[in-house]
Amino acid sequence: MLEQAQRVLKDIFGYDSFRGRQGAIIECVAKGGDALVLMPTGGGKSLCYQVPGLLRNGLAVVVSPLIALMEDQVATLDELGVAAASLNSTLSAEQQRELAGKIRRGEIKMLYLAPERLVQPRMLDFLRGLEIALFAIDEAHCVSQWGHDFRPEYLQLGQLAELFPTVPRIALTATADMRTREEIVTRLHLQNAERFLSSFDRPNIFYRIVPKEQPRKQLMAFLSERRGDAGIVYCLSRKKVDDVAAFLCDQGFPALPYHAGLPAETRASNQRRFLNEEGLIMVATIAFGMGIDKPNVRFVAHLDLPKSLEAYYQETGRAGRDGLPADAWMAYGLQDMVMLKQMLQNSEGDERHKRIEQHKLDAMLALCEETRCRRQILLNYFDEELLQPCGHCDNCVDSVQTWDATEPARQALSAIYRTGQRYGVGHLIDVLLGRDNEKVRSFGHQQLSVFGVGKARQEGEWRSLFRQLVARGLADIDLEGYGGLRLSDSCRPLLRGEVNLELRRDLKPQISKGTGSSGSPASQLVRGEEREQWEALRALRRKLAEEHGVPPYVIFPDSTLLEMLRSQPSSLSEMARVSGVGARKLERYGQAFLEVLGGEAETPKVVVDLRHELVTLARAGMTPIQIAGQLQCSEKNVYSLLAEAIGRQELSLEQALDLPEDLLLELQDAFLDGEGELPPVSVIVGQFGARVPEGVLYCVRAALAAEFEM
Ligand code: ADP
Ligand code: ZN
Repeated sequence: MLEQAQRVLKDIFGYDSFRGRQGAIIECVAKGGDALVLMPTGGGKSLCYQVPGLLRNGLAVVVSPLIALMEDQVATLDELGVAAASLNSTLSAEQQRELAGKIRRGEIKMLYLAPERLVQPRMLDFLRGLEIALFAIDEAHCVSQWGHDFRPEYLQLGQLAELFPTVPRIALTATADMRTREEIVTRLHLQNAERFLSSFDRPNIFYRIVPKEQPRKQLMAFLSERRGDAGIVYCLSRKKVDDVAAFLCDQGFPALPYHAGLPAETRASNQRRFLNEEGLIMVATIAFGMGIDKPNVRFVAHLDLPKSLEAYYQETGRAGRDGLPADAWMAYGLQDMVMLKQMLQNSEGDERHKRIEQHKLDAMLALCEETRCRRQILLNYFDEELLQPCGHCDNCVDSVQTWDATEPARQALSAIYRTGQRYGVGHLIDVLLGRDNEKVRSFGHQQLSVFGVGKARQEGEWRSLFRQLVARGLADIDLEGYGGLRLSDSCRPLLRGEVNLELRRDLKPQISKGTGSSGSPASQLVRGEEREQWEALRALRRKLAEEHGVPPYVIFPDSTLLEMLRSQPSSLSEMARVSGVGARKLERYGQAFLEVLGGEAETPKVVVDLRHELVTLARAGMTPIQIAGQLQCSEKNVYSLLAEAIGRQELSLEQALDLPEDLLLELQDAFLDGEGELPPVSVIVGQFGARVPEGVLYCVRAALAAEFEM
């Protein structure tokens, strides 16, 4: 089974090996078992149902919550030569009838549809009259009422278990928490499903969190190291989205805004452009993201703090689905905390709910102020242990310094106390620095004992200190008043001198020479001397994408172009070895990309070893007719070369020809009918006449001969 799966993986998808648990999952489902798959974004969930769908007989039915997701998948499968379709509300009645006809005739292998569609009685009846390969339930966490994406229609999918007891079902999600997991099992009746839990680590993402000083300048520094890369910049409010997008455009960065306040057409068009064009920056609220499958998002930047680690993980997880290096960058400051705490305070919902949200925010803040490996903290929050520091986050590479902040922290807390627990950080710092200004005077604060005690430190250091006091819960934001600071109960031991306080030393922001990031921004995937060819490959991909009306990554992902660039294939058979180049794409695009790589005609014509090339093409799943076209020789010639290769056991019969089972049996019987030696082709050719090309007989005979060593 696994062998067959491997062949589908290479022939159709062009990949050499399964990732993580894909192989085990595919084997389980292909054999007819149920599966629950928890895998992070970019982990490769689609293959987990697409491969068994292709291995099993009948129609694979895929439930997906969003039209955009379905269309993306269908376009991708289409490019791979797999007959897929989506049944959704954008189809007219006529188109739906047509599609139903195709499905009945077995012309569709994979059908995508929304849950509400699937559970309509008529639809279920229709499907019960067909052979079904499997049901895949994508984004299965939508069945959870606790989650953020609850979709009531998902609840009805439980009935599939009863209606189709013999059809395997596979539920997939990137949401890992225990509660959601158990809810999926119960509601979808997956008690007997095998569970496949992958690590939620995203090793290709570099995490960096910086204190917010001059956010726009910091953002520009970050972006200017990533020119030409596509990415998302998240902001909290719609207004800020508009402002930042306009600002970036002014500064010469190709940015588009996206938030729920924009007209539907603008949103749709900006989203389409982001998917279809290269190197665009989407400035967005969190309204943007769900259903964005673009694999080559090279960075996600946060100008405002997300409200939980779940949100942070999900939003940053949109970067680097293709597995190539990507960046998650965030600037955060005290004002973010004030804003989020205020929003929380004013939100609907009972006290218990608010308390939970508060805890989530606290965990987020703790990550920001963390001095240990960010990835360890993040994964730990999701109940996963990373034994060693990752070496691929800011804290790991910058070796963060801490300092003993006990004394200044006491000074800061007493400044809060002495001024009456109602002022914001700006005023408190003025007092500590001994600034004799109007506001200070008007309250008589120049007479306080704390006035000027903090002169030895700079304003920035005080800011960092106050931020960390709040993040650690040693001081509180007064949400009823104007957002001033108050003491919290937990600061007493510190004030009484019973404990010491170690704080993180903020790095000086290095605005002029970049953000001090990972040192190799993702955009530097391609080295200088490769740049020209890289751009040429991308240009060809863009042209083909336009011709086919699909996003560029549907033609080939960046990782495939990159491998072409590095391995410089010079023949179709070498091209077939590039990861991501399956049979159909080899046939459609192989030549065009070879030409770009080969440059002008001056490269010496490679002497192609016809035999070798033929074997590779056949292994990649090409039919004899296609191979004949590709090698520019006659079909007859191809058949005899195939038969030879089979005789040398370089090819199996299945690799060479795609024969229906019963015909194959019939052919084998014809050869094996007599006693003793295999008869020559000429003896039995009459039995089949025009039904079977003569070349096929040679191949079948060669296979039998090889098998029995005759
Ligand atoms: P998910 O749905 O889990 O976010 P996808 O199914 O979209 O992830 O896969 C992410 C990317 O990884 C896609 O571009 C996909 O083609 C690629 N991919 C998946 N499995 C493999 C594999 N075994 N080898 C190489 N690339 C793979
Ligand atoms: Zn780390």
